[in-house]
Amino acid sequence: MLKGKCAIVTGASRGIGKAIALKLASLGANIVLNYRSNEKEALEVENEIKGMGVETLCVKGDISKSEEVDNLINSAKEKFGTIDIMVNNAGITKDALIIRMKEEDFDNVIDVNLKGVFNCLKAITPIMMKQKHGKIINLSSVVGITGNAGQVNYSASKAGVIGMTKSLAREVGSRGITVNAVAPGYIETDMTEALADKYKEEMKKTIPLKRLGKASDVANVVAFLASESADYVTGQVIQVDGGMLM
Ligand code: NAP
Repeated sequence: MLKGKCAIVTGASRGIGKAIALKLASLGANIVLNYRSNEKEALEVENEIKGMGVETLCVKGDISKSEEVDNLINSAKEKFGTIDIMVNNAGITKDALIIRMKEEDFDNVIDVNLKGVFNCLKAITPIMMKQKHGKIINLSSVVGITGNAGQVNYSASKAGVIGMTKSLAREVGSRGITVNAVAPGYIETDMTEALADKYKEEMKKTIPLKRLGKASDVANVVAFLASESADYVTGQVIQVDGGMLM
């Protein structure tokens, strides 16, 4: 389905990004993996993907730094010629109630989750415009829609990602580029590992499908949006949350 396409996935060393990279590779795409610091795990993902018979490139880089994003995109372009799919997945949390949230915790989360996605969009858009095709998928979150106590910084960043997704979809639709967001609910990864078991059990009760999500649940939807099956879908926010928010 994606044979010969080139896909960049930011934050692909673990969690949802790793699952997305593996899923796109299983469909035949060549994969450019990005990570920030966790080299060992990133190289393990790279090896796993190599074993699937597609080509890969692993690029270390902090998406909050525009020069490191430029290096990521240029390295991918140099190796693969075209970049067909860009998945802006990397993200962080620094949760606290606002009365205890430090200014730097707000800034860090905005720098990575919002400015980082902006850096990636700014670098990839001219390339896709020249190609006259491209699929961009941004990772938002249901809390970007609902808000969440203790996540003023994170929910603002994820609401911002929705705004950027819709604005860019309007800007580049005429160039054959689609831009969509995926808004996961509670997905079992390192990011949600720290939550207390009691809290997770309470969460499950509020989810119609009665379970937390798996990284592969999100990856399957990203794969659809990256495929030709979604050619007439743009500017959308697809929730992958077991029906939690409806
Ligand atoms: P995770 O397990 O914590 O993994 C985060 C990934 O992002 C890692 O690969 C990490 O690289 C990378 N990363 C972090 N900061 C980066 C930076 N500045 N530059 C480049 N890469 C960076 O997170 P996850 O749960 O898979 O979440 C993935 C995305 O889904 C995030 O955008 C998150 O906000 C969103 N999301 C998650 C959930 C959930 O329930 N898990 C729900 C809604 C939305 P290193 O390994 O090198 O640190």
